[in-house]
Amino acid sequence: MDHQDVLKANGFTASELSGGTLAVRSPIDGAEVARIAETPLESMDAVIARSQAAFKDWRTVPAPRRGELVRLLGEELRAAKDALGALVTLEAGKITSEGLGEVQEMIDICDFAVGLSRQLYGLTIASERPGHKMSETWHPMGPCGVISAFNFPVAVWSWNAALAIVCGNPVIWKPSEKTPLTALACQKIFEKAVARFGADAPEGLSQVVIGGAEIGNALVESKDVPILSATGSTRMGQIVGPKVAARWGRPILELGGNNAMIVAPSADLEMAVRAIVFSAVGTAGQRCTTLRRLIAHKSVKAELVAKLAKAYGTLPVGDPRKAGTLVGPLVDQASLKAMQTALSNARSEGGVVHGGEIVSGTVPGGAYVTPALVEMPGQTATVKTETFAPILYVMEYDTLEEAITLQNDVPQGLSSCIFTLNIREAETFLSASGSDCGIANVNIGPSGAEIGGAFGGEKETGGGRESGSDAWKGYMRRQTSTVNYSASLPLAQGVKFDI
Ligand code: NAD
Repeated sequence: MDHQDVLKANGFTASELSGGTLAVRSPIDGAEVARIAETPLESMDAVIARSQAAFKDWRTVPAPRRGELVRLLGEELRAAKDALGALVTLEAGKITSEGLGEVQEMIDICDFAVGLSRQLYGLTIASERPGHKMSETWHPMGPCGVISAFNFPVAVWSWNAALAIVCGNPVIWKPSEKTPLTALACQKIFEKAVARFGADAPEGLSQVVIGGAEIGNALVESKDVPILSATGSTRMGQIVGPKVAARWGRPILELGGNNAMIVAPSADLEMAVRAIVFSAVGTAGQRCTTLRRLIAHKSVKAELVAKLAKAYGTLPVGDPRKAGTLVGPLVDQASLKAMQTALSNARSEGGVVHGGEIVSGTVPGGAYVTPALVEMPGQTATVKTETFAPILYVMEYDTLEEAITLQNDVPQGLSSCIFTLNIREAETFLSASGSDCGIANVNIGPSGAEIGGAFGGEKETGGGRESGSDAWKGYMRRQTSTVNYSASLPLAQGVKFDI
């Protein structure tokens, strides 16, 4: 399908795609595919007011009924999967299976959230006072602002929106300025679900605002947006986090990663190689969970690097729409430049670079590169920095303690893993003195998380959790209630206050 066919399949009309101020380019060939309208900054108060009004209605709709809307959203996403997946490919440059996989992730979180809509459990707690009952209830919180990154242009919204909506909160989404069309397509899909759902879905339950940092900032600074989920670079989080905290909002920050794999002497190297290649070069190294650091035991490093170099040598780089392509383009030329700068810095720090060359003649206008494998003498400043491109730094270790220290000695704390068949090593890696990341895996790469688990990381990754497990609690407020059904008024802690 060419670009216009994909846009048409997603229900865009010619007038929606022209006449605006935001140019949308496809990473596939750098072509401008649309010029869309941006949300005027002065209309943000009205957007937020609409969301507040929607909240007043939506919080009174029973949670299982709210779940029904998310169930319908999941059905609409199933119907739209091929078209929306192709749009993710067009706008973010992901290969076809990864574009479709991202939409599948949206469907999965809808299923999860539907079940959750009947399980927003509180607690009953033993009271120390006779004739008293203590309990804990979870209530809707209010509008949830979602600021998202280009590299997961649709899944991140759904992780937040599916949970926020069953939890009783409206959503205002500011997508990356690089991927606004996927957001507008999702809004169309949401509206189809609302049309089937009926009148108890208030107007403004889900809104999309288009623009750059200043439009995001309007959500960040508004006291009427109590939850602000922001996914993107640590640089962005450093600005957004303190602003949300200063107005006593609740930030959910999902920021940069610098994910490592330790390969131990007992590792199944064939499995490790497959996991490394997928997690280091998938999405052209533009996942927050991309494998960026390989910490290999000195007894296996040479063999591992040789196997990887061989695998890297055969990787099909090119048009992400073409069957067989495994590595699509970088999002833009600026990304390519950042990759080249990182490789040049790594060289000056003693690194030996394999790959990382520009691939010309695939699709003109796109930023295509061969993934780079860089043998480093140690964990230098460049290795400690997240460069959003397919660069895998390889280092060696002697003792497991040394490997875990290296793994943890970076500012980011998103995802990590170890390949070992030794249970002592595996359990040490997962223990309190092991990996310091939000995600720690054994014999699985660091990327490609399932929605059932809570997703997020520590340190400069921001500390937020989204998606599965009890991440829903981040979208609700907790209320502790004590009811006295006795005829006396005993005080807690045995305090006497007789009047
Ligand atoms: P980015 O930080 O450039 O932009 C992300 C979003 O933040 C965009 O919507 C942008 O408009 C907005 N933004 C930027 N500055 C802002 C400000 N001052 N106020 C309000 N909004 C602002 O990130 P990107 O290049 O789109 O994405 C790549 C980065 O995202 C990488 O660092 C990657 O690791 C990270 N990421 C993290 C996760 C995660 O779950 N931890 C997931 C995906 C991407």
